Amino acid sequence: MPGTCGHQAPAWSAGPIEDRTRTRRPTPTSQETRVDLYEYQAKDLFAAHDVPVLPGDVASTPAEAKAIAERFGQTVVVKAQVKTGGRGKAGGVKLAETPAETEVKADAILGLDIKGHVVHRVLVTPASDIAEEYYFSFLLDRANRTFLAMASVEGGMDIEEVAATKPEALAKVPVDAVKGVDRAKADEIVAAARFPAEVADQVADVIVKLWETFVSEDATLVEVNPLVRDPEGKIVALDGKVTLDENASFRHPAHEALVDKQAEDPLEAKAKEKGLNYVKLDGQVGIIGNGAGLVMSTLDVVAYAGEKHKGVKPANFLDIGGGASAEVMANGLDIILHDPDVRSVFVNVFGGITSCDAVANGIVAALGILGDQATKPLVVRLDGNNVEEGRRILADAAHPLVTVVDTMDNAADKAAELAAAGV
Ligand code: GDP
Ligand code: MN
Repeated sequence: MPGTCGHQAPAWSAGPIEDRTRTRRPTPTSQETRVDLYEYQAKDLFAAHDVPVLPGDVASTPAEAKAIAERFGQTVVVKAQVKTGGRGKAGGVKLAETPAETEVKADAILGLDIKGHVVHRVLVTPASDIAEEYYFSFLLDRANRTFLAMASVEGGMDIEEVAATKPEALAKVPVDAVKGVDRAKADEIVAAARFPAEVADQVADVIVKLWETFVSEDATLVEVNPLVRDPEGKIVALDGKVTLDENASFRHPAHEALVDKQAEDPLEAKAKEKGLNYVKLDGQVGIIGNGAGLVMSTLDVVAYAGEKHKGVKPANFLDIGGGASAEVMANGLDIILHDPDVRSVFVNVFGGITSCDAVANGIVAALGILGDQATKPLVVRLDGNNVEEGRRILADAAHPLVTVVDTMDNAADKAAELAAAGV
């Protein structure tokens, strides 16, 4: 499958380490980060772009859910708000005919563990009668360097299964980024997916609005499954999944409120607060370097060295940038040393504008600031401007945790060896 359709939700699974390091590795100019939204947030965005959705409200207790159902005064659906698909199958989507029943259903759903995601909130929304369930998505198709529309009249629970067993039932229509989706393009998509004639107009209209949502919110995924036809023939987006491109967040001050601080990796959140360019990975060797290019090659060298040392891998990406002051070094070390997976740290610095003696002083001062909190071995490789003086400073300090190694390859090997000794 290209991208991220359906309910196995590859968009929200970490994937194997190789994939993770590849897709999450930052580039020198940007960090590929994204913001996955909850269903209720996705549908709020849909509503803002006139995509038809049902109203709804979010509750974090059964009593709140009951109160919402009282307001609607009709049969409702109680839906787990977790960032994974397959909630229906997992018992996270339930009909409730009365407010009392809503309370009971909310109580059953709150606290559920759905594929490792604990339900803290439920969406309570008027139940819709369903005549037919369709599937629709726009996504960034990285492999083919284009956008892609996917549509099927066989929507509902499992689009992956449709794609695997009946590929002809899932239309895939590339979308030119410059031309976008106008009414004629939407008609083409509707025809490719063979939507019934009586809904073709409405679906095309919704597709144009979903494209507006996709573009104007800078999304990389907009998915509706199911898009339903109710018995009166009206088309409604009953579920919604949206992934925003965080690189575009400067254009969308309103998106800040959509970020889920609670679910963010705590180390990444702390790094962001301190203005550090940090990405958590799954390995054991903490990495600090200056310059994104150097840090990326350090990841490769450490991963290679790790093959000889129990398969240890880089634990993170951290670029402390040009001015490696003691404070920045201390902040960086502080974050890495608090990663419980880290067994050793590799500090790889090339002295340029900030010379090696300043960096060495930064490391010594940072270890002083951290005191007893510094508990893991550090391998330091310095090169470049004023390297001799830098190495002399570290030798004089003779910190018991620090080993200075002259070359990048040997330092990576030493760091991997120390990490392997600790696993
Ligand atoms: P998902 O399983 O996580 O994708 O959650 P969905 O929001 O897609 O809901 C799963 C299924 O529950 C849908 O495919 C519908 O069949 C059903 N469902 C959701 N909302 C309603 C509703 O308002 N009325 C009815 N009758 N069924 C619903
Ligand atoms: Mn769904």
